[in-house]
Amino acid sequence: MVEIFETVEGEGTRAGYPTVFVRLFHCNLRCTWCDTPYSYAPAQPEFEATIGEIVSRAADFGWENVCLTGGEPLIHRHKSQLLVEALAAVDHIQDIHIETNGAIDVRPFAALRDKSELLRRKVRFIVDYKLPASGEMDKMIHEHLTALQSRDELKFVIANDEDFDIAVDVISEYEPTCTILFSPVWETMPPERLVEKILQAGLKQVKLNLQIHKVIWDPAARGV
Ligand code: SF4
Repeated sequence: MVEIFETVEGEGTRAGYPTVFVRLFHCNLRCTWCDTPYSYAPAQPEFEATIGEIVSRAADFGWENVCLTGGEPLIHRHKSQLLVEALAAVDHIQDIHIETNGAIDVRPFAALRDKSELLRRKVRFIVDYKLPASGEMDKMIHEHLTALQSRDELKFVIANDEDFDIAVDVISEYEPTCTILFSPVWETMPPERLVEKILQAGLKQVKLNLQIHKVIWDPAARGV
């Protein structure tokens, strides 16, 4: 485990709502612009906890929204699934959004969700599609993009013009039916430039996604 804390969701369709963040250790990628390098080796986990302990700590905050993140929260496979199911079993937890990096196939997890009314109601996937500037695009799984449903989100973090063009190509080829988010890398893609590009390209289905916690707190702050 890395951390469990309460804050407001910083991005996506639930941005601004009070949310408990559960950050798991380990990641199978090493993105150039990663802002959580403390969540994978050579850093060390902050603490160990059983699934029951994680759920208990997350539930104690009392909020409806839980963000399961990392690192890569689905890298623990069956344990990740058990954690999601245990969180969903808590009555007052209504929305569990799983921020996954696009290099773990979500289809097995989506299939399990489909089988359970409780999971269908409470669980959403936020898939991050890594573009060339991340250095990890060759790890992206395309086959699961069409498994995303209307309540899921597909996020593109865009650092430059090449990233933007490839994001547009991916949308055009796979036609995902979920919410599509374009998020700027603040250092190299000013938000106003990204807005201009979205408008110029006529991308009706794309939603600009800004990380509000970088506005509220120091962009390098942890646990917020
Ligand atoms: S997938 Fe996420 S946690 Fe892993 S290196 Fe990339 S940005 Fe960092």
